[in-house]
Amino acid sequence: MIKVEELYKRFGDTEVLTDINTSIERGEVVTIIGPSGSGKSTFLRCLNLLEQPSYGHVYVNDDDITNPKVDILKVREQIGMVFQHFHLFPHMTVLDNLTYAPMTVKGMPKQEAVQKAKDLLARVGLSDKTNAYPNSLSGGQKQRVAIARALAMEPELMLFDEPTSALDPEMVKEVLDVIKDLAHSGMTLAVVTHEMGFAKEVADRVIFMDQGKIVEEGAPQDFFEQAKTDRAQHFLDKVL
Ligand code: ADP
Ligand code: MG
Repeated sequence: MIKVEELYKRFGDTEVLTDINTSIERGEVVTIIGPSGSGKSTFLRCLNLLEQPSYGHVYVNDDDITNPKVDILKVREQIGMVFQHFHLFPHMTVLDNLTYAPMTVKGMPKQEAVQKAKDLLARVGLSDKTNAYPNSLSGGQKQRVAIARALAMEPELMLFDEPTSALDPEMVKEVLDVIKDLAHSGMTLAVVTHEMGFAKEVADRVIFMDQGKIVEEGAPQDFFEQAKTDRAQHFLDKVL
């Protein structure tokens, strides 16, 4: 589904991503872990061109999105993204948050968009919040709305950038459970997270990044039980 070749990203003189090569298969759940500042968010944002790579290629379903001729807006419709800080539309109800993009971007008829939104709110356990405004919700509820909103566009791939890092501890589980449910439904997911338990339990593959590079990647069992590199082991010693 995604193939990344020789990806580099610089901000001015600072090289933030160095020679990233990897791929994500359809239906695969990949978690991306590593220290703060290692380039995880930048990497994720290169996958939908929220950041423009400085060099290299990113293929989404065989389209090279670094090619200016590719319609990136069309590609982005296939890729949902969920951020640490929710980014809901504050002046819209929960329902309107979910129906807005399908109606305006995809031209989905209102009745269909509303039905779909209600189904998704039921799926994330928030049917009773349909007409609420975001500021009346808890952090965990906001994040579940944000996930439902991304799903409303029927993406093929979902990107999560530390979806639980801004949440109070008691709300982490309700959000991880929604992501787990997605994983089990066969959706393709790339999740940047500090939740090692989640990575261990749910991921098909763990990518460990440090200083802008993929230092190590592999099956979670292997990675968490015996990381191959000192850098990964050092990181795990600190977080586990
Ligand atoms: P992570 O998500 O792993 O914490 P980031 O991808 O956010 O790492 O950042 C990697 C590095 O790139 C950091 O040193 C950060 O300061 C730098 N960086 C990120 N975005 C920008 C930007 N827009 N301009 C300049 N530097 C940036
Ligand atoms: Mg980040």
